[in-house]
Amino acid sequence: MISFIFQPFVSGPFAANFIYFAFRINNTMHMLSIFSDDHFMRQAIKEAQKAMEQDEVPVGAVVVANNQIIGRAHNQTELLHDVTAHAEIMAITAATNYLNSKYLPDCTLFVTLEPCVMCAGALFWSQIGRVVYGAADEKRGFMRFGKSLLHPKTKLEYGVLHEECSALMKSFFKEKR
Ligand SMILES: [Zn+2]
Repeated sequence: MISFIFQPFVSGPFAANFIYFAFRINNTMHMLSIFSDDHFMRQAIKEAQKAMEQDEVPVGAVVVANNQIIGRAHNQTELLHDVTAHAEIMAITAATNYLNSKYLPDCTLFVTLEPCVMCAGALFWSQIGRVVYGAADEKRGFMRFGKSLLHPKTKLEYGVLHEECSALMKSFFKEKR
């Protein structure tokens, strides 16, 4: 016997990032997360898959404000002949255009791969509230230099769906070889 409780509720320290729907199966409460980090990382993965289909390095990003995606982009360095056309940079631009503001303190950027130093710089300038990345990039990732490349107010999380995120990269470069 399944009964749904259609009242979304928000609680706890993750109130800003998690909204759950509760439902009951055989009198046991289950919680289904609707706007979780996983959910938005899946959207970033969808962007990365678009890049893959266009023979671009498969990196995707979304910018989220109030649980709404206000910017989404994938790597387009080949299409645009522009080495700066990384997913993060274009997602930031889309979000700032949407908000008509150059700063993003109340936004979260979800990106499938650890940002490079250039993108960490762009994220610094945007003063973004939070950055969440999936797979680590040991060669080009900004974390070789540390979190201090980001704005001091930026919260950082990583490892969200990292297996799916790194599988994309691995299959792309496997095909290239
Ligand atoms: Zn980058």
